[in-house]
Amino acid sequence: MTPNRRIAVIGAGISGLTTAYRLQEYGCDVEIFEARSQSGGRIGSSRRQGYLLEHGPHTILQRNRATRDLIDDLGLRPEVTVANEDANRRYVVRDGRPLPIPMSFDGFLQSDLLSTRAKLRLLAEPFVRPRNDDVDETLASFVERRFGPELLEYAFSPFVGGIYAGSPHRLSVRHGFRRLWELEQSGGSVSGGAVLKRLIVDRFFGADEGDDVERDLFSFKGGAGRLVERLTESLGERMHMGAAVESLHKVPGAGIWTLDGEGAAGEDRPPFDDVVWTGPTYRLADLSVDGTPIGDTDAGEVLDDVYYPPVSVVAMGVDADRVEHPLDGFGVLVPEVEPYDILGCLFISTLFPGRAPDGQALLSTFVGGARRPELAKAPDEELVDVVRDDLEDLIGLSGQPEFVDITRWPRAIPQYEVGYGRVFAAANTLEEQYSGLHLGGNFRDGIAVPDLIETATDRAQRLATRPPRFHTPLGRTA
Ligand SMILES: Cc1cc2nc3c(=O)[nH]c(=O)nc-3n(C[C@H](O)[C@H](O)[C@H](O)COP(=O)(O)OP(=O)(O)OC[C@H]3O[C@@H](n4cnc5c(N)ncnc54)[C@H](O)[C@@H]3O)c2cc1C
Repeated sequence: MTPNRRIAVIGAGISGLTTAYRLQEYGCDVEIFEARSQSGGRIGSSRRQGYLLEHGPHTILQRNRATRDLIDDLGLRPEVTVANEDANRRYVVRDGRPLPIPMSFDGFLQSDLLSTRAKLRLLAEPFVRPRNDDVDETLASFVERRFGPELLEYAFSPFVGGIYAGSPHRLSVRHGFRRLWELEQSGGSVSGGAVLKRLIVDRFFGADEGDDVERDLFSFKGGAGRLVERLTESLGERMHMGAAVESLHKVPGAGIWTLDGEGAAGEDRPPFDDVVWTGPTYRLADLSVDGTPIGDTDAGEVLDDVYYPPVSVVAMGVDADRVEHPLDGFGVLVPEVEPYDILGCLFISTLFPGRAPDGQALLSTFVGGARRPELAKAPDEELVDVVRDDLEDLIGLSGQPEFVDITRWPRAIPQYEVGYGRVFAAANTLEEQYSGLHLGGNFRDGIAVPDLIETATDRAQRLATRPPRFHTPLGRTA
């Protein structure tokens, strides 16, 4: 271990915060730079009129040790709140009716969600031969090939809309749903049951850690934002807010980095041995390294092309008596083939206690994504009308909401589309080209919060424990 290693982390979302926190634990001299005046990136919670609102992720799926350890090390365990058991029930709309989505292979065969024809097709799935022609296939093509069109429309497509805000016709099964792709590649072990379990229970994601890691959907009593708040507190003066890093420079002869940018420049700041970037690719393209914007390089152009569709999150506080549906589930997802505008709606006050005042319900509706990008940008009034109209039909919502809060993410979530292998390759190229620059964040490490925590933890360990690269002119080991 090289405890005196100086490392700059750019971006204080969950990726950057976890990286910096773990580096600090390893004894590195770390500083973290965040462009906005607030840390957390996509993660943030706030309280309004007795409601606890989420602006980004509403739930986190506990599925790896790194996430569990982080919560414990931050002393957040007593604040963890596991989603109500009802969360296991998820509704998907078919012919205008929310139907519970089956959680098992047998459940699919018994469900009204699929026609008899689709069920027969599902039974034939284990006999579909794996495709091994090395084509980077879309999720839609993969699912249609293995399961038929109905399962795509009524199971995969709504989940992709709800999780990625993406389109199965654009996302790559190999890069975006690697576990699914690996299941097929592993040949004999593919069966409809296994794939469906992975799809529904593990929600497309799956870093198998064995049975000792509980797989709860959770948040914190104060909302998902507590995680980033605690990380921020524990980093103390190492955090620089309102500090957008615009350029990096290599110190001639020494091979170490200085950085510059509004709020990020520091005359007396000693240079850094390593720099870890965790922001989105469209900001990375603007970053200049030794005078050349990354976006002007071939690799940078590829990164700048990553598609981040817009998403608007419309939170509504409503009188629970004005909703006909029992709201006894995680929420309702809307397939693209159904005549509705929203991607889905989460029944937040069902999931976690204390999210709404007594007698009220809190609903969080997602609009836009790759399916309807233009709709995410609609004016507030139009957005609220669209949501109210759909919820009236789908869950029998009547009357006016008590309050409305809209969060707009103009570029919400990177889409791991077909061809995304080029993005991974471009990131590798840049790291080779600029030794000491490391790239992380959700364009590279997965989009789910636990995946980002796990990768950031690994990256911090690798950086903190790797052997010294050289000696500076002052004799300090770097
Ligand atoms: C609406 C929504 C709902 C979601 N729901 C879920 C969910 O339920 N469960 C789940 O697991 N995941 C969910 N996600 C995904 C998850 O929230 C994100 O993938 C994750 O939070 C991204 O973290 P990050 O640190 O990689 O990036 P970000 O959170 O984007 O953080 C990057 C940070 O870098 C900063 N930055 C950029 N450029 C610079 C610069 N030049 N200098 C300094 N700082 C810079 C940015 O300001 C930002 O704070 C959701 C995402 C959205 C948008």
